Amino acid sequence: VKAEGRNGYRFFEEEMHRNAQARNRRVGELRESVARGDFELHYQPIFDAKTLQPRVMEALVRWRHPSQGLLYPDRFIGLAEETGLMEPLGRWILRQACADAASWPKGIKVAVNLSPAQFQGPALFDDVLRALLETGLSPDRLEFEVTESILLQEKEENLLLFRHLKNIGITIALDDFGVGYASLGSVVSFPFDKVKIDRSFTKGLVTNPANRTVVASIMTLAAGLGVQVTAEGVETEEQLHYLRGQGLDLVQGYLLGRPASADLNEWVRAIPA
Ligand code: C2E
Ligand code: CA
Ligand code: CA
Ligand code: CA
Repeated sequence: VKAEGRNGYRFFEEEMHRNAQARNRRVGELRESVARGDFELHYQPIFDAKTLQPRVMEALVRWRHPSQGLLYPDRFIGLAEETGLMEPLGRWILRQACADAASWPKGIKVAVNLSPAQFQGPALFDDVLRALLETGLSPDRLEFEVTESILLQEKEENLLLFRHLKNIGITIALDDFGVGYASLGSVVSFPFDKVKIDRSFTKGLVTNPANRTVVASIMTLAAGLGVQVTAEGVETEEQLHYLRGQGLDLVQGYLLGRPASADLNEWVRAIPA
C-alpha cells in the first residue's frame, strides 16, 4: 500500500468500505432469513460399523438464500455467530430437527450440531425442553454434537448444562475430535458419550501411518472412558474396511450416505418402523 502512495491508499480505503457494505448487506439478509426461517436441514446417516444399519441422522443446515440458491454453512455460520444470530438460528435448527425426527422410526436418533455461541446463559436448556415438548420427541432420541472449543470456555455452567442434558437422556458427541486445542485433562472430565474422529484423520488412514496411530490412540482413550467412537468422512472402501477392523462403533461419510433433505432421504424412508 505504501509503495502505491496516496492513490493506492485511497483505493484501499474504498475497497474496505465496499467490503463493509457487502458484509452489512449480508447480515441484513441473514437477519431477515432467520426471522422467516429460510433454512433447510439436510440429514446425513451415521451407521453402526458392524451391521451397517443407520442409527443416527446428523442435521446439517443450509440457507435458502433469497437470490443465491442454497448456501452451505461455511458461508453463514461464522457470520451468524459474530452477529448474535446464531442463538435464534440455533433454536430454529433444534426445533426443526426434533420435529423431523419425531416422524421417524423409533430406532433412529437425530444429531444436532451446537455452536459455542448457543451457550450464552441458561436459555439453551429451556429451548431444548420446549423443542422436545412441542414436537413430542423423546429425549433419548436427541444427540448433540459439540466441538472441543466448548471445553476452552471452561465454564462451570457448561459442565452443569451438559449434566442436565444427560440426566434427561440426551447424548453428547465430541465432534471433530483431535483437531481442537482442548487439553486431554479437560476432555476426560467432560461428560460425553461419543467421540467423532475428525475427517482429516480418516482421510490419510490407508496411506499415512501417523493417522493410524491417532485412530488407535483415540480407540484406547475411548475404551478407557467407556465412550463410543464414530469416524467421519469415510469416502473409500479401504477406509471403511480398516475402521471396521479397528472395532470402531459408528461410521459416516460420502461412501455410505450423503446429506439429503428429509423428504428425499432414502435412509429415513428405508428404515422399518
Ligand atoms: P461437521 O459437523 O463436521 O459436519 C460434517 C461436514 O462434512 C458436513 O459439511 C458434511 O456434509 C461433510 N461431509 C460428510 N461426509 C463427508 C465425506 O465423506 N467427505 C467430505 N469431504 N465431507 C463430508 P457441511 O454440511 O458443509 O457442514 C460444515 C460444518 O458446518 C459442519 O461440520 C458444522 O461444523 C457446521 N454446521 C452444519 N450444520 C450446522 C448446524 O445446524 N449448526 C451448527 N452450529 N453448525 C453446523
Ligand atoms: Ca457434526
Ligand atoms: Ca465433524
Ligand atoms: Ca468439521
